Amino acid sequence: MYYNSTRDNSCRVTAAQAISQGISAEGGLFVPENLPKFSLEEIGSMAGKSYNEKAKMILSRFLTDFTEEELNRCVDSAYTSEKFDSDNISEIAKVGENAYLLELWHGPTCAFKDMALQLLPHLLTVSAEKTVPGKEIVVLVATSGDTGKAALEGFRDVPGTRMLVFYPVHGVSNMQKLQMTTQEGKNVGVCAIEGNFDDAQSGVKKIFTDPAVLAELEKNNQIFSSANSINWGRLAPQIVYYMAAYASLVEQGEIALGDQVNIVVPTGNFGNILAAYYAKGMGLPVGRLICASNRNKVLTDFLRTGVYDRNRTFHTTPSPSMDILISSNLERLLYDLCGKDDGQIREWFSALSKEGRYQVTPQVLTRLKEEFYGGYCTDEETISAIGKIFRKYGYLCDTHTAVGVKVYEDYVQQTGDPMKTIIASTASPYKFTGSVLKAICSDPVPEDDFAQVELLEKLSGLPAPASLLALKEKEVRFKRSVPKEQMVEEVLQMLK
Ligand SMILES: *Cc1c(COP(=O)(O)O)cnc(C)c1O
Repeated sequence: MYYNSTRDNSCRVTAAQAISQGISAEGGLFVPENLPKFSLEEIGSMAGKSYNEKAKMILSRFLTDFTEEELNRCVDSAYTSEKFDSDNISEIAKVGENAYLLELWHGPTCAFKDMALQLLPHLLTVSAEKTVPGKEIVVLVATSGDTGKAALEGFRDVPGTRMLVFYPVHGVSNMQKLQMTTQEGKNVGVCAIEGNFDDAQSGVKKIFTDPAVLAELEKNNQIFSSANSINWGRLAPQIVYYMAAYASLVEQGEIALGDQVNIVVPTGNFGNILAAYYAKGMGLPVGRLICASNRNKVLTDFLRTGVYDRNRTFHTTPSPSMDILISSNLERLLYDLCGKDDGQIREWFSALSKEGRYQVTPQVLTRLKEEFYGGYCTDEETISAIGKIFRKYGYLCDTHTAVGVKVYEDYVQQTGDPMKTIIASTASPYKFTGSVLKAICSDPVPEDDFAQVELLEKLSGLPAPASLLALKEKEVRFKRSVPKEQMVEEVLQMLK
């Protein structure tokens, strides 16, 4: 299996190259030349297998330059019962007649990003050994909250790697901030940026081509890679859980093999929902892909009009991991939908970087509408959805998942679609305790984060994850906050 760049078809690399490089030289994203196909029998045969076995079955079709032993080692180091508080790695909770919440937050940092970021460091070190032996991998991350912590936890003390994370100082929840500032590990660093997530992200992008930084890397025998969801090594592991969940529903008798299911994904950078789209392309029986946004509804507008326009106010919402105006992975989808026309992609994405806007062709818009439904909800609707789900089903969900549930309800109301539906549940409610408490408790919410956790445990009966409770005792290691202009300096310091 080879990978092409979305901005240059003639670029053709192995999985190891795609993963160690992160992004193609001309700025395109790596995509599989052809998706591997799974028959219904093969999908059915996953029922009853462990998560690791399913992951190996699926990933071996993408990472064809990895030996069986290498892939086994990567997968078995990532998904362990020490790191995940569920033997199944992910869990499924039924809410209502047709909806299943796919809980993807049983990993060490309590967000779905662990599903990929526990595996990525292993894929990356194997890939680097194959393509750039002897080099140290330097990973820079811009985070809207969850990626940063999941990446830090995945990379901590992994030999041959070093990592620096930038987060928007006012753009993450208290618990997210505490998770990052108390991070352990000799090879990792964390720095706050006085700006929003897009500032952090474009700052990191610039550093990748900064001449002073590149000279320093060369001198130290280091290379840059990426842990953001532009890296193929982060996307591929996300395909696994959609196929695994489908097989589990078959196993539990909730659906028959071959039945279609809808998939709802609370979306930010478009990585998680793109993985679901790829799963469909590989043969998973999927009906509609429902893309749920918060008040930053650039994707909802895009899916309705075909115009992507980031020239709008950025809102900070109770679902901060979805506060994004540039959804990077959309580029991969559009590449596929426009018939792999790299010239077309170059045109749209250069318009995006120059004018902040592009418009797809009517043909592509038609294809988008066939595959996707886009919806959004306001901050108030997010909070009230949490309360409603809790009262109706006794199920406590976080703010991001609540956006998914609300948009799903709107979708059902508008279409009457009775199809069974998987809703990606992307974070533990305890990561966003303040907002979740507001939704289920009419008394004033205590200021202190851990008092909030205690109260939420009392009200919901759901135990808080041990990894979040442990933060209370941890020392804050990273206190720096810098203007975005200073990011280059921070990186140069870290490389030394
Ligand atoms: C990152 C994140 C999202 C958005 O996922 P994308 O792949 O960026 O679309 C949604 N919810 C939570 C909790 C997240 O951490």
